[in-house]
Amino acid sequence: MKKRYPVIIMVILLTGAVLVMANLRKKIPVSGPAPTRPEYVLVIHGGAGNITRESLPDSMAAEYYRELQTALVVGHRILDTGGTALDAVEAVVRFLEDCPLFNAGKGAVFTAEGKNELDASIMDGATGLAGAVAGVTTIKNPVSAARAVMEKSLHVMLAGRGAEAFARQMGLEMVAPEYFSTPDRYQSWKEAREKMDKKGTVGAVALDKKGNLAAATSTGGMMMKQWGRIGDSPVIGAGTFASNRTCAVSCTGHGEYFIRNAVAYDLSARMQYAGTPLRKGAHEILHVKLKEQGGTGGLIAIDKNGNFVMDFNTTGMFRGYLLPSGETKVMIFGDEK
Ligand code: ASP
Repeated sequence: MKKRYPVIIMVILLTGAVLVMANLRKKIPVSGPAPTRPEYVLVIHGGAGNITRESLPDSMAAEYYRELQTALVVGHRILDTGGTALDAVEAVVRFLEDCPLFNAGKGAVFTAEGKNELDASIMDGATGLAGAVAGVTTIKNPVSAARAVMEKSLHVMLAGRGAEAFARQMGLEMVAPEYFSTPDRYQSWKEAREKMDKKGTVGAVALDKKGNLAAATSTGGMMMKQWGRIGDSPVIGAGTFASNRTCAVSCTGHGEYFIRNAVAYDLSARMQYAGTPLRKGAHEILHVKLKEQGGTGGLIAIDKNGNFVMDFNTTGMFRGYLLPSGETKVMIFGDEK
């Protein structure tokens, strides 16, 4: 009986050694990209607001779905062929600016004086550089002017006439102020929009194949704004923010609250300093902090690992995402998941 003990102990030790070796082989390397990070991700929004099935007729909703879907295709072409996140967010926002359904570029809401005054910004998470224009009335695509400010000037934000003179010098397409309002078609959209309190700012965030993040936002601002009011959309850290260390963010909603709470930067800071996951951070900002203050709106964001969020404390937000598997989804109402 006694003689069997050494044999049993040997068997136990050998089994243990085999198990340890097998586990070591499986071990995931500690450096390099997160194994689960998708090749690229694009998330877009077309504004948050009091958007319900009652206030948005099916035929109109169908148009929004179609345009959001096309915007994703525009971004897909760039990201899938190895283009940069920066190029993708600019191109997508340009597309949405040209689309009269949204409150950005053509189709922007009217100020109290009956004009269209546009704000836009863009930020490159790879370099930390940013650009913005505010209160412009003759630049066809404000997001491209924002990019020109970032890349071709020594400044971050240009406003009004100065921004327009700069854009002209940079060779950007200029239009008459009337271009932004679409007389016949716009009237019908305007009535519907007023009813449903739709705001319709546009934004895009992207992660490219190289792991770089970028964000862009463009808007006509708040309906009936006056005295040269500027919202959060062109304010870096409020309506737009991107850093490769954390995330890329584009916001929409009641801009004054987003400025006071530095919402886009707050989300990034929560990740960087408190290790808060993206979704949790967005939830705390929108559903706790802003809600307590009465601030309405939403945001889209992607973190450096490709996790993304589309969250809002309103009844709806025009939104959509694209994944490298080809999976796309566009949504409007709060009950769509
Ligand atoms: N945030 C924009 C602004 O306050 C409006 C919006 O997103 O609806 O100008």
